[in-house]
Amino acid sequence: MKIYNTFTRSVEEVVPLHAGNNIGLYACGPTVYDYAHLGHLRKYIMDDVLIRVLRHSGLTVTHVMNITDVGHLVSDADEGEDKMEKGARKYGKSVWDIAKEFESFFWKGLDAVGVSRPDISCRATDHIAEQIMLIQTLEKRGFTYILDDGLYFDTSKFPEYGQLAKLDIEKLKAGARVEMVHGKKHPTDFALWKFSSKNEKRQMEWDSPWGKGFPGWHIECSAMSMKYLGDQFDVHTGGIDHIPVHHTNEIAQSEAATGKKPFVKYWVHHNFLRVDGEKMSKSLNNFYTIDDVIQKGFSPMALRLLYLSAHYRDELNFTWDTLAASQTAGDRLVQMASGWKKEEGRTELSGEKLEKIEEYRSRFFTAIEHDLHTPEAVAVLWEMTKSNIPSKDKYDLLCEFDEVLGLGIAGAVSQSNGNEKKVPVPQDIAKLATQRWQAKQTKDFTIADLLRKKIEDNGWVVTDNEAGYIVKKKT
Ligand code: AMP
Ligand code: ZN
Repeated sequence: MKIYNTFTRSVEEVVPLHAGNNIGLYACGPTVYDYAHLGHLRKYIMDDVLIRVLRHSGLTVTHVMNITDVGHLVSDADEGEDKMEKGARKYGKSVWDIAKEFESFFWKGLDAVGVSRPDISCRATDHIAEQIMLIQTLEKRGFTYILDDGLYFDTSKFPEYGQLAKLDIEKLKAGARVEMVHGKKHPTDFALWKFSSKNEKRQMEWDSPWGKGFPGWHIECSAMSMKYLGDQFDVHTGGIDHIPVHHTNEIAQSEAATGKKPFVKYWVHHNFLRVDGEKMSKSLNNFYTIDDVIQKGFSPMALRLLYLSAHYRDELNFTWDTLAASQTAGDRLVQMASGWKKEEGRTELSGEKLEKIEEYRSRFFTAIEHDLHTPEAVAVLWEMTKSNIPSKDKYDLLCEFDEVLGLGIAGAVSQSNGNEKKVPVPQDIAKLATQRWQAKQTKDFTIADLLRKKIEDNGWVVTDNEAGYIVKKKT
């Protein structure tokens, strides 16, 4: 397996850091102040594919993910409100309540799109003691200074600061405006512990050796990753927005605390899901959630298939039309697979067909094991479906590919076969479907779309395929 390492700006073979076969992988989790959106799902689906590919290639993976439920401020400059307090005000609830609610919503979305749960998930608020201990180590080693509003990390004491993002520290210094600094010694210095304001009562605050307050956002990821994976581990993932500040700061504080032991071997960063040319984000309020996908009658797996069509390091623009195309493609795949599965027995395989199977397998895994080139891998999959290898072998190969794609093909096939047997299509729905089909034949697409909607409003889904169309109960 090879992966692009942001630290070295090159695609590298993944070799476990420690003796043995295990990969320690830490994924920056969500800040639970609002609904997890389709942008988040893109990031966690692609993490899931990465983990599946690593496991498929014979490695074991310990997957740790944090839940940020305190300390992530609205501004990266250690100013402004805590996003959690802002979210609590927006929804008129307590910070603790929204943290719980939005964390559940996040897991619900991940479950829907087939993302396996991490081996360990850890909340920042459950690890205050670990964060305080790490800050104490930094203090003892002389990396901190205190200001009115908190305890800060002095980045000038860590000369390697900014290597991950290739930051030009001199330029940053020259560009910093004095009023932005607020007593910080250097523009890149960052808060390790923030004090509660004297004028305002915070809902989340803890005692510390420096005063009542709360941890800075970056320290949680260093404290929890090192607690569960050790001072040095293999893979750390996050969105590309984390490169210049969050991950840069994680490296500085972790390595400063451990005496410059290289913190992480492979840094993996995902590009954004966009909508109308802008990053889909909670703060821009331009987001859709998994509930929108389901309410519009799409299956969460169509979303997963859509995401697999783009490389994780490229931007992807979200539209409902591309999701609809992906739904049609996914349904077609499940339908073909159902047909293959029903064909009993295996025909004798000629040497030529065996070679073809091996060729598809090899091309598929070469693409996906090379920096997760899912678009190429999925193209091989489609090519395989059109080949002349026996149906039973197509089915087996598809299921093998799906071990890393995670579309849940085998489950969908049994469901669709079960559906065909157990849930007969009611007469009125069947009639609507026939009328829709006739409208399509006469190219009356407006009527056809209206009829499709009517069918969907009644809890059924109609999908076209090579042989005509099928009607299934909505899942
Ligand atoms: P947050 O909840 O903002 O802390 O983000 C959690 C993770 O989701 C981070 O790794 C972000 O980079 C990632 N993320 C947020 N928005 C998007 C998006 N539109 N597309 C892809 N990843 C995103
Ligand atoms: Zn993080």
